[in-house]
Amino acid sequence: MTTYKIAAIPGDGIGGEVISAGVEVLHALAKREASFGFHVDHFDWGSERYKKTGAFMPENGRELIAGHDAILFGSAGAPDVPDHITLWGLRLAICQPFDQYANVRPTRILPGITSPLRAVTGPELDWVIVRENSEGEYAGVGGRVHRGLPEEAATDVSMFTRAGVARIMRFAFRLAQSRPRKLLTVVTKSNAQRHAMVMWDEIAAEVAAEFPDVTWDKMLVDAMTMRMVLRPGSIDTVVATNLHADILSELAAALAGSLGIAPTANLNPERKFPSMFEPIHGSAFDIMGKGIANPVGTFWSCVMMLEHLGEAKAAARLMRAIERVTADPSLHTPDLGGKATTAQVTAAVCNALLGDNTA
Ligand code: ATP
Repeated sequence: MTTYKIAAIPGDGIGGEVISAGVEVLHALAKREASFGFHVDHFDWGSERYKKTGAFMPENGRELIAGHDAILFGSAGAPDVPDHITLWGLRLAICQPFDQYANVRPTRILPGITSPLRAVTGPELDWVIVRENSEGEYAGVGGRVHRGLPEEAATDVSMFTRAGVARIMRFAFRLAQSRPRKLLTVVTKSNAQRHAMVMWDEIAAEVAAEFPDVTWDKMLVDAMTMRMVLRPGSIDTVVATNLHADILSELAAALAGSLGIAPTANLNPERKFPSMFEPIHGSAFDIMGKGIANPVGTFWSCVMMLEHLGEAKAAARLMRAIERVTADPSLHTPDLGGKATTAQVTAAVCNALLGDNTA
C-alpha cells in the first residue's frame, strides 16, 4: 500500500479549521479506497510563530518539507502583521524556492450553488485559470529610496524571462489540450505595456504552433473582466501573468458563488520539488473560531492534490462527494446563505465518501 507523506501547514485564522477538516476527509477517502493512505505531518508555521520568534518558519523549514509528496496549506495573514511581510515570509518563501511556477485555479458552479450572475446556472461557467507564479509583477525586484522624505521614490519592476514565459505558456496549452473544448485565452496588456507584454504575446504565438489542435485567442486584461461577466461560456482555459491572474481569479471565485469554495494548486510540474495545494480564501479572522468556515475550498484543493499524486479515481470520488454535499442547501455554511457548520459539512462529505458505491 502506498502511503503519501503530506506536509500540512494550517497557517493563520480559519486555516487551522479548514485544514483539520481536509485531513479528516483525506483519511476517510483513504479508508474507502484501501489502496493508499496518508501520513500527515503538521507544521505550526504562521503569524503567531512570527510574532514570537521573528520568523514564520524555521531556517531549515524548506528542508523539513522538501521530501514530502505534497503540501496542504491553509492560509496566511493576521490583522496585526503587514500583508507583504506575511506573503513573502511564508507562502512565497515556499512557492519560489520550490519553483511552483504554475498556479492552477479551476472555477465551476457546483451543484446547489447560485452564481451572482443570474443567467448562469452551471455548465456555461467551467474555467481553469493558469497563473504565472514565479516572476512577472511579483518578482520582488525594486526598492525604496529617501524613505519618509518628501523626495521618497519606490519601484516595483516586473521581470519576465523568455524561459519563464515559455514554460507557463507550454503548461497552459497542454492543459487546454487535455480539456474537451481545447480552448485557451491568453490574457495580456500589450497595448500599454510595450516591452514584457509584447514578448509575452510573441512567445504565446510561438508555443501555439506546437499545439495546432488548441484554439487560442488573445485578450486584454481589462476586456477580459467584461467577458468573464457577460460571456462566461466563451471561456475555457486562461493563462495570465502573476498580477493579472491574481485579480481575474478572485473575480472568478466570486462569480462561482463564494470565496469559500475555490481551490488552487501551486505546481512544480517537473516534480523536482513538492507542489502545494490551498483554498484561495484568506485567514478570515472575522469568522475564526466560530466553526462556520466553509471547508469546500480545502476539499477541492485535496482533489487537485490527489490528481497530482496520480490518484485520479480517488480524486473523482472526492469531487463527487463534495458535489453531493453542495447540492443540499441544508449543508451550506453561512457564506452560502446556509446554517451548517464546518463539522457538519465535513461529516457529510465523509459519509458521502463511505457511501459511494462506484468501484
Ligand atoms: P487575507 O488578507 O488573509 O486574504 P481577507 O479578509 O482579505 O484576508 P478573506 O480572509 O479571504 O480575505 O475573507 C474575505 C471575506 O470572505 C470575509 O468576510 C470572510 O469571512 C469570508 N470568507 C473567506 N473564506 C471563507 C470561508 N472559507 N468560509 C466562509 N467565509 C469565508
